[in-house]
Amino acid sequence: MARVRETCDVSPTPDITIPPSLLPADGRFGCGPSKVRPEAVDALAAVSRTYLGTSHRQATVKDMVGRLRSGLTSMFSLPDDWEIVLGNGGTTVLWDALCFGLVDRQSQHLSFGEFSSKFASCVQAAPWLADPEVLATDPGSHPTPVGRSGVDTYALTHNETSTGVAMPIVRPRGADPDAVVAVDATSAAGGLRFDPTECDLYYFAPQKSLASDGGLWLAAASPTALERIERIAAGDRYIPASLNLSTARDNSSKNQTYNTPALATILLATHQVEWINDNGGLEWAATRCDTSADTIYSWAEASTYATPFVTDPTMRSHVVATIDLDSAVVDANVVAAVLRANGVVDTDSYRKLGRNQLRIALFPAIDPEDVAALTRCIDHVVGELAG
Ligand SMILES: *Cc1c(COP(=O)(O)O)cnc(C)c1O
Repeated sequence: MARVRETCDVSPTPDITIPPSLLPADGRFGCGPSKVRPEAVDALAAVSRTYLGTSHRQATVKDMVGRLRSGLTSMFSLPDDWEIVLGNGGTTVLWDALCFGLVDRQSQHLSFGEFSSKFASCVQAAPWLADPEVLATDPGSHPTPVGRSGVDTYALTHNETSTGVAMPIVRPRGADPDAVVAVDATSAAGGLRFDPTECDLYYFAPQKSLASDGGLWLAAASPTALERIERIAAGDRYIPASLNLSTARDNSSKNQTYNTPALATILLATHQVEWINDNGGLEWAATRCDTSADTIYSWAEASTYATPFVTDPTMRSHVVATIDLDSAVVDANVVAAVLRANGVVDTDSYRKLGRNQLRIALFPAIDPEDVAALTRCIDHVVGELAG
């Protein structure tokens, strides 16, 4: 099957064919964009002439946005006075919108990897905000928020996708009563459990646990967060229209977006949320991720050459697993390349972490049986490379 071929580096990929009986049914293990369920793509194809290519200001598309918003409300078991707000640009653009329209004066950030550090940098660069307080730990663990008077926004990350560390969402003790807890749940939303009473803004993009495509941001917002958004928007701070959260909220309440969204992304996300809800909701999806996590971490702990990167089992993510390989035995980049040549893709580590590591998505769309099959494929490839 795989002849010697060039990877993006210079070394050729060894010609190793994984026996078909070992292969997963679906070979997509990337952390985003991640596996989109074929059933969702079929549902999109079925409405290719009636939904795609139609106006986002008309009922067909607005109904789909409405289904997505109500599906998320029930999946997260949100209180009645919460709202689902959405807009274009993905999480990265939402960070800019949060600098303009959510952080009042000073935020506190837990920084423990690439994504959590990025939002802190956005705030740091915003001249109208005070320097953020940044609590950092080395990759592989997470800091704990510290309630402090004067901090109006706490920036937490439910799952740090670059390192495979997940943290519980808990409102910091001692926080000011009107402080907002804002959670980056980009890779967690739909795969990890959380209690909405412990936060005010739970935001994400749909190309990870929601098995859709990128380019959209979504946020579940509490009355406290909505009040903050409206107060800042009504003040004299300059806010670009496309980054105005009050405008986004207004459009979302009408099941629209301020400017044109990607209709396919909305349908695929809706399909995934309804699939989760039809099967038992977030608890079901999270349990499915628990099964995959148990499979991959138990395998690594029993392995002679693989080890979970996150040493504290309570911090190990159940949606993104990071597995170190013994560099004396095998080069993880070569393992990932051989897997890729066999159709098992995107197990590469997060490059900036610089470890001899595989990073494997365990999102709800990914069949736990396929995660088990992946471990057998890795064993086979390492056996061939090292043997
Ligand atoms: C992927 C990811 C982002 C970036 O999302 P975009 O939609 O690409 O901007 C931010 N935070 C976390 C935790 C992520 O996993």
